[in-house]
Amino acid sequence: MANQQDFIPTAAGLAAGAKGAEVERLQTYLKKFGYLESPVAESFRINTVLASIPAAEKGTFDEGTMQALKRFQTFNHLPATGVLDEATLAHMKLPRCGFPDLGEFTNTGRKWPGTNLTYGFQEFSLDIPAAQVIEATAQAFALWSAVTPLCFRRVALSANPNIIIRFVSGDHGDGNAFDGPSGVLAHAFFPPFPPNPPEPIQGDAHFDEDENWTIAIPPAAGKIDLVTVAAHEFGHSLGLGHSAVAGALMAPFYAGPHRFLHSDDIAGIQSIYGGSFIAHAMWVHGTSIQIELPEQIESVRRLGFYTRIVGKPNTTNWFHFAIPTPVIVDNDRKQVGPIILRFRTLSANAVVRDVHIYDGEARIAAHNGVNLSGDHFFERFGVAHCPDVLWGLGISIGVTFGGGTANQRSMDFIAAGCDFRP
Ligand code: ZN
Ligand code: ZN
Repeated sequence: MANQQDFIPTAAGLAAGAKGAEVERLQTYLKKFGYLESPVAESFRINTVLASIPAAEKGTFDEGTMQALKRFQTFNHLPATGVLDEATLAHMKLPRCGFPDLGEFTNTGRKWPGTNLTYGFQEFSLDIPAAQVIEATAQAFALWSAVTPLCFRRVALSANPNIIIRFVSGDHGDGNAFDGPSGVLAHAFFPPFPPNPPEPIQGDAHFDEDENWTIAIPPAAGKIDLVTVAAHEFGHSLGLGHSAVAGALMAPFYAGPHRFLHSDDIAGIQSIYGGSFIAHAMWVHGTSIQIELPEQIESVRRLGFYTRIVGKPNTTNWFHFAIPTPVIVDNDRKQVGPIILRFRTLSANAVVRDVHIYDGEARIAAHNGVNLSGDHFFERFGVAHCPDVLWGLGISIGVTFGGGTANQRSMDFIAAGCDFRP
C-alpha cells in the first residue's frame, strides 16, 4: 500500500504569513496530534488542553498555527522557533503513536475499576505467527503488572475482554484511519471514568497492519518492534497520555526497541493504580546459581557477596535460580508477582539477553531481548497474568558474552527473588 502521510509537510521553511497547501498539511499534523482544535480528540474520547491556543485559519500560517507549532517543539525538546525548520520537519517524519499529545501525562480519574483485566485478539498480524504475537503482548503487559496491582489475562473475544487488540490497515471504523507503512504505527483508547461503564472501544489497542512487525532483536531494517509498541499502547489502555520526558516509554515517537519502563512511566502508572500488593517475598543469594553450560565458562568464583562469572569469548549461556516458594500460606494459595534480580555486568560485552520465569515445568513469563548490561540492582520482571503458584518458581537468565578482556566478559549475580500476591 502506498504511503498516505498527507498530514506531514514536504519541505521546511514555513513561517508566519505563509499560505497554501503546505500550511494546510502542517495544520493537519498539528490537529491530528492534539496541538490544534479538531474532531480527533473527540474520536479518542479525550479532552484537549488547548484553551490558550487561538483557532487557526485553514491554509494560513497565523498566530494559532505558530503557537501550536511552538508547543509541538517544546513537547519534543526542539528549539521553540515557531518556524517549520529542518529539525522540526525531521521530527515530524519519525514513526509515532497516533494518540494525540496531551498537556497532561496522567488523566486524573480515568481508570479501570478492578485490577484483574482481560484482553483478547480480534485480528492477528500476518507478519509473525500468532503464538509469537501472544508472547510479545504478554511481555508488554508484564511491564505494567510488574509495578502495579494489575493482572492481565488473555480470554476469547466472546468473553468480552476489557482490552481488544486489533491488527488492521487503513480505515477500520473508528474515525482514525491508519496511513500505510511508517507514520502512525498504532493507537489506543483510554479506560472509562468510573463509575461509568466502559464504551466498547475504551481500552482497545489498534496496530497498523501495514507496518512490518517483528519480535526479533535487533529488528531488521524497516521492521518495527511489536513488544515496544504494544507496551506503549497498553499504557494508553490503562490511562496514561504521552510523556514529554525523553527516554520514557510513553513518549510519542518510536525510536527502536524500548522493552522497559522509565521511572517516569512507573511514577505515572502508580499515580493511577498504586504499587503492587505483596503478601510474601522470597529471595536467594547469588551463590546458589546453577550454570547450564559449564564448559563455556572461563571462570566462576563464589564469593560472600556474589557469584562472579567470566564467560568464554563469543558464547551464550543460561543461568538458573530456584526460588524457595510459599505455595500455600495459612490455607491461602499465593499468586506469582514480579521476580526481581540483582546483578551487574562489567561491560557491554556481557549482556543479559532474556529472562524466563517458570513454575515447575511451565514457562509463565518470557522477557526476551531485554539486553541489559551495567548495574541492575533492583530489576523487576513481571508475570502478566499473575497465576496461582503451583510447584516452585525458577528463573532462567540467558546471557551473551562478547569479546574483550576477561574483565569485560564478567558479570556478578548478587541475588534473585520473587514477590507473591495475596
Ligand atoms: Zn501513544
Ligand atoms: Zn483504530
